[in-house]
Amino acid sequence: MTEGANNGEGNVVNKFSKDNCIFCKEALLEVGKKTEYGAVIIYKVGSTKKDGWFAILSPRTGGDPKSDFSIQIVPFGHLTNFSQIDAYPELARNYGIIFSKVSSAVGVVIKDELPDGEERVPIGTYGKCKHLDEHIHIKIFPWRNDIGQPFTTDSSFQRKEIFKDAEEEFVKMKPVRKAGLKRERFDQLSEKLISLLK
Ligand SMILES: [Zn+2]
Repeated sequence: MTEGANNGEGNVVNKFSKDNCIFCKEALLEVGKKTEYGAVIIYKVGSTKKDGWFAILSPRTGGDPKSDFSIQIVPFGHLTNFSQIDAYPELARNYGIIFSKVSSAVGVVIKDELPDGEERVPIGTYGKCKHLDEHIHIKIFPWRNDIGQPFTTDSSFQRKEIFKDAEEEFVKMKPVRKAGLKRERFDQLSEKLISLLK
């Protein structure tokens, strides 16, 4: 695991980018506190860089801001690849706990707000390891509207009609535009998620 270094002012310096690592800083916040960009910490499990994870509700969504939202699960430690989780059994165990608890809370929120007659509770996740200057993170969100389009690993993505221009083949997707949740909606949502995750 790569640990951030302290720059002498209490801020954790990212080993790779040499900038302050926002995730290392956010890991220190208590549940209910807001990050610099307005996300809220909704759940934490574990207490050290070798066993801890936190979940944050984002102030923005690529779906419909009236109904959709996005949560990120992030390790306290400066992990840059999913394969590193395997080196720390408690971190692996707590990942299972935070993933299942957050998924369950997201399911309750979706279910409570479903239109009459709708029974499906669509939840999507997304995560990748690519950058060396950030923590791995897994996004959990209602899988619907523009953010819930078939993903490259889905058979339904492969079944899309293929178009061709002079340079390449391509398929059509709807554009995703991130929008902020209204203050009232965001506060109500974060309070509900925090209470469901207690
Ligand atoms: Zn970090």
